[in-house]
Amino acid sequence: METILETQHLRKIYNYRTENAFEALHDINFKVEKGEFVAIMGPSGSGKSTFINNISTIDLPTFGKVFIKGKEVRSMSANETGHFRYEHLGFIFQDFNLLDTHTLFENIAMPLSLAHVNKEEIMKRVNDLADKMNIRGILAKYPYECSGGQRQRAAICRALVNQPDIIVADEPTGNLDSANSAELMNILDQMNRKDGVTIVMVTHDALIASYSSRLIYIRDGNIEKQLERNGMDQDYYFQKISEINNEERREIIRK
Ligand code: ADP
Repeated sequence: METILETQHLRKIYNYRTENAFEALHDINFKVEKGEFVAIMGPSGSGKSTFINNISTIDLPTFGKVFIKGKEVRSMSANETGHFRYEHLGFIFQDFNLLDTHTLFENIAMPLSLAHVNKEEIMKRVNDLADKMNIRGILAKYPYECSGGQRQRAAICRALVNQPDIIVADEPTGNLDSANSAELMNILDQMNRKDGVTIVMVTHDALIASYSSRLIYIRDGNIEKQLERNGMDQDYYFQKISEINNEERREIIRK
């Protein structure tokens, strides 16, 4: 097994050294092995987005260390971090974060343009992916001219265009109807199983989480519980995830 992502004593304190200081993550020690598909759940405000941002170079820890592919994130310059991101990470966000001033083609090509990949290679990769995702014919359109499902596919293409080792997804199905959610989950599932891409995904939906191979449940800035899928079929795993969510909710009410 190869550890692809690790945190050591990760703490995130917003507004550190001010009277508004707030510790959103407390001393988190966590590892992801290559090829895992980790789902992160927890109540609103528990620190899920903070966590995912800190393990994917979007934000930096206040204390402790984050290693991605053995590289400590805080040891990299801004330039190196940018490069590292385009080489190894793919992001999918709830609102897709496509730029309305750019066509779908330009949006998808962005990680490659920023990494100064040559034009021919960019054309090839974007067109190949767009073919696979069935949006080749609309690459010249702007996001606001496209449906939610089409924007989602473009966002997936953009996350995959640099052939990332790790996909980081924050509520990727948050704005999708159930058919598009299922399609996205099937794509992620295939990439994980067939291509061995590691996935770390935040979701509030137990059904979406049941596509993962491990669940972590965050509460009040701590990893409160973990559940390994370990050969459970998806139905049974879904039940177990729902049980954890229900137990945790009862805990919160009791408090
Ligand atoms: P979740 O994703 O689980 O809803 P977040 O990671 O967004 O939770 O937030 C965790 C806690 O940190 C919340 O109490 C939130 O108010 C606080 N928080 C998040 N971002 C900031 C910020 N930029 N400045 C100050 N506090 C923040």
